[in-house]
Amino acid sequence: MKRLGLLGGMSWESSIEYERWINEEVRDRLGGTASADLVIRSFNFADIEAMQESDDWDAAARTLAEAASDLQASGAEGILLCTNTMHRVYDEVQAAVAVPMLHIADATAAAVRAQGISRVALLGTRYTMEQPFYANRLRAAGLVVSVPEEPDRTMIHDVIYAELVRGVVSPDSKRQYLRAIDRLVESGSEGVIAGCTEIELLVGPEDVRVPYFPTAYLHAQAAARFALEP
Ligand code: GLU
Repeated sequence: MKRLGLLGGMSWESSIEYERWINEEVRDRLGGTASADLVIRSFNFADIEAMQESDDWDAAARTLAEAASDLQASGAEGILLCTNTMHRVYDEVQAAVAVPMLHIADATAAAVRAQGISRVALLGTRYTMEQPFYANRLRAAGLVVSVPEEPDRTMIHDVIYAELVRGVVSPDSKRQYLRAIDRLVESGSEGVIAGCTEIELLVGPEDVRVPYFPTAYLHAQAAARFALEP
């Protein structure tokens, strides 16, 4: 089994779920007392958020690249960036290491295509919904991507930073998310991507009437498969 390196803490509310899901998949596949071989670097999210807010993606790239390099030095044979938003600097981080970094949008696009659909709505932070880095990766995989209109984008972003990364899961925010999702489905989206790793802590597939793609879970599953393949 390969050793995986996790760049987490963005936020820890979702990265602890990554650790759980990877371990569960390894246990299911190998049985007995088997568990995943992991090295984890968990950031202070306040530092990451400050770089996002000041638009200092170069500093973020340097910080994550240095940490990825440390994970590689600790024996990681594959690395996961446990957040959608910070895939904004995926190319720079991947360039800093020789081992593969499993891209969260690739795991997600594969799951969408496996459902036989292509028109998807993308929910996430403002960075993920409004900058091209994420949607373009999905488009390159053949998907047709739309994002919520305002004021839904602001609501979705604010709930992530003011509630979900702080461990607050509010029924009222869930209702607002579901109304935003309804509007996207009415406009023709055949599926919905929870393109922020905390959104799936608020809204699950059982809440949504179209196929729903929880990116952290899909990324964790892809990582476990990678770790277990020969
Ligand atoms: N975890 C979130 C994501 O998947 C947002 C926090 C962050 O900005 O990293 O985008």
